[in-house]
Amino acid sequence: MFSGAGHTMSRPPAASNRRYVGARRSAVRVDVDRKLCDNHGQCAIVAPAVFQMDDNSELVFDAHPADSYLDEVDEAADVCPMQAIFIGED
Ligand code: SF4
Repeated sequence: MFSGAGHTMSRPPAASNRRYVGARRSAVRVDVDRKLCDNHGQCAIVAPAVFQMDDNSELVFDAHPADSYLDEVDEAADVCPMQAIFIGED
C-alpha cells in the first residue's frame, strides 16, 4: 500500500500481483517525515517502484517494499535533500 499525506492509495490488485511476483517482501519499513519532506521528488527518480509523486505532486510511497528494492531505497534516502527518508524495521 502506498502512503500519502493524509491519505493512502492502494495499487490495483493486478498491478500489485505483477510487481511482486517472485519478490520477497522485507521486514524493512520505510517512513518519510512529512514535516521535512518538501516533495522535491528526487526519491521518485532513483526509486520509482517505491516512491512516486501523485496527481497533486505529493509524495506517495510503499512503506514495505520488496527486498529487491532496498538498494534503491537506500539511494533515495541518500539523495533526499531534506534527509526525510527513514529506514527501519517493523
Ligand atoms: S526526495 Fe525527500 S524531500 Fe523530496 S519528495 Fe522524496 S522524501 Fe520528500
